[in-house]
Amino acid sequence: MTTLSVRTTQTDDLVDITERVREAIPAGLDGAVVLYCPHTTAGLLVNEGADPDVAMDLLAALRRLVPRDGPYRHREGNAAAHIRSVLTGSSLLIPVQAGRLALGVWQRIFLAEYDGPRNREVLVQFLGPG
Ligand code: ZN
Repeated sequence: MTTLSVRTTQTDDLVDITERVREAIPAGLDGAVVLYCPHTTAGLLVNEGADPDVAMDLLAALRRLVPRDGPYRHREGNAAAHIRSVLTGSSLLIPVQAGRLALGVWQRIFLAEYDGPRNREVLVQFLGPG
């Protein structure tokens, strides 16, 4: 298992970690990679990375769906971040073919930060023929 350390710089942030994952893939692997985010106010997602406006639109839409100030019970003050992370999810399973991520042309892997800036971790486990 590999652990990626990711520093986020905004309260809400999408950090492209695709190259970090690519660099960790064992040469020639045919299998898959599991990515896991062990945090309750961040998550992982795959979406377009070519146009940075897509990431901005995703974050803006999540802010509209789950406003920071709402009628929440959680006293820590970051209930919206917890809820947004549930919408995003905490893990990804991505096929790996001949040592390459089988992502679509426009797809990138993002750590989704909802309560930053913080230091985050992403656990990376490759699955393949033993
Ligand atoms: Zn909390």
